[in-house]
Amino acid sequence: MKKQLYINGAWVTGSEYVPHHSPHTGETIAEIPVATPEEVEQAIQAAYAAKTVIAKMPSHKRAEILEKLAHSLAKNADRATEILALEASKPIVHARAEVQRTIQTYKFSAEEAKRLHGETIPLDAAPGGEGRVAYTVREPVGVVGAITPFNFPLNLVAHKVGPAIASGNTIVLKPAMQTPLSALLIAELLDEIGLPPGIFNVVTGRGSVVGDKIVTDERINKITFTGSPSVGISIRNRAGLKRVTLELGSNSAVIVDKGVDIDKIISRCVTGAFSFQGQVCISLQRVYVHEDLYVSFVEKFIDKTKQLTIGNPLDEATDIASLISSQDVKRALDWIEEARQQGAKVATGGKAEGNVLHPTVILDAAPSLKVSCQEVFAPIVVINKVSSVEEAISHVNDSRFGLQAGIYTNDVNVALTAAEQLHVGGVMINDIPTFRVDHMPYGGVKESGMGREGVKYAIEEMTELKLVVFNRN
Ligand code: NAP
Repeated sequence: MKKQLYINGAWVTGSEYVPHHSPHTGETIAEIPVATPEEVEQAIQAAYAAKTVIAKMPSHKRAEILEKLAHSLAKNADRATEILALEASKPIVHARAEVQRTIQTYKFSAEEAKRLHGETIPLDAAPGGEGRVAYTVREPVGVVGAITPFNFPLNLVAHKVGPAIASGNTIVLKPAMQTPLSALLIAELLDEIGLPPGIFNVVTGRGSVVGDKIVTDERINKITFTGSPSVGISIRNRAGLKRVTLELGSNSAVIVDKGVDIDKIISRCVTGAFSFQGQVCISLQRVYVHEDLYVSFVEKFIDKTKQLTIGNPLDEATDIASLISSQDVKRALDWIEEARQQGAKVATGGKAEGNVLHPTVILDAAPSLKVSCQEVFAPIVVINKVSSVEEAISHVNDSRFGLQAGIYTNDVNVALTAAEQLHVGGVMINDIPTFRVDHMPYGGVKESGMGREGVKYAIEEMTELKLVVFNRN
């Protein structure tokens, strides 16, 4: 089916199209417009012109739009689930979970729309401040340029669209070309709800054209980007004085301390490593297990991994389906081969059938190997033996990235030390780093990015703080 761009409240036929393939079957599932710079210009102009419309809209009205969107998505949940399974090759159970989380994200956004407030400042705390009343308000930045990745195409769009509407901004969204249908579905639902024209615009197309125009155009006040570190860093370099939030990648780790009941955590760790084929920014990539538990942890982890079902993403029983592209399969196999050649042991997996990479467990991998130190973004996990939590913490921190980390321990002091010393955006005690719900502050340090999402926190980054001072003297 031929899709259209959504610009200024209207569906616009593109001047150029590319076929959109299912990564699992290779079949063409749609024709997607590849927006030209002129089409992106129209979207930016529309968003710029609609700034005053949404900025003047009362917060209860913005909340109502988001409530209706959550409701409408719930009504269309089966359709949204199927789109995710088809275009992202997301196993349907995970696709369904993403749709439910997306509904939550829009609900949180509706609630936050009503809580946009500043504070009073006691100016008389400074000599010369007497007789003055001061307060702050939060104002929308104006136009938000949102650029999103393929891996959570519905919920990561929601993490930008929800807070932007809640805080009175207009949006130009460029979804990943690998997964544009999920974003176009949201445009369809907002259109049905009767969102005034220009507030939300979707332009599909190449990052180098559409993304670049969004990043460099002066009418766009803020860029919110989720994607790979390399693209994120280049966006930061080109965005000038725009505000920029970057939600980038990682090679997340969990530490397993001595004395932990590993039977209780194996299944959770396997889920963290292999959900959506490891294509999750907080996927569990590195495990550091205390030497007392290492042998049995490895054995049980491999057993559980072998029980995963490989199959079609539309099948309810499937745990593992295709990676997003054949290039990613090749890259992952190359990295596994590098590990093998450098003396690491591939304990299970390590091979591909079509675009499906078998869930892979690697042991004895040096920290310098790509599977250890880069973001694998594939179903590959490295399990390492450590003699203490201190040693494990130093390995976890020996990374260019720092999104989230986890530690399983029975010792509260060890937990507190880890919370203090792990250099990441979020520490999960007695859980994997892969834990996320949609209202918690979420984001990384180092090459994992800058700024925070999680509706309330995204809103802070999409609003300007204005100070008002009354002189009563
Ligand atoms: P990606 O290749 O960086 O693409 C992300 C988006 O950027 C796509 O829409 C892409 O467009 C666009 N883009 C590409 N080049 C651009 C340019 N020069 N200027 C502006 N935009 C450009 O990432 P991905 O492969 O889709 O997603 C995987 C990455 O996202 C991983 O690194 C993962 O860790 C990260 N991620 C992070 C989080 C988080 O919250 N921290 C969450 C999910 C994913 P095209 O359609 O043209 O490719």
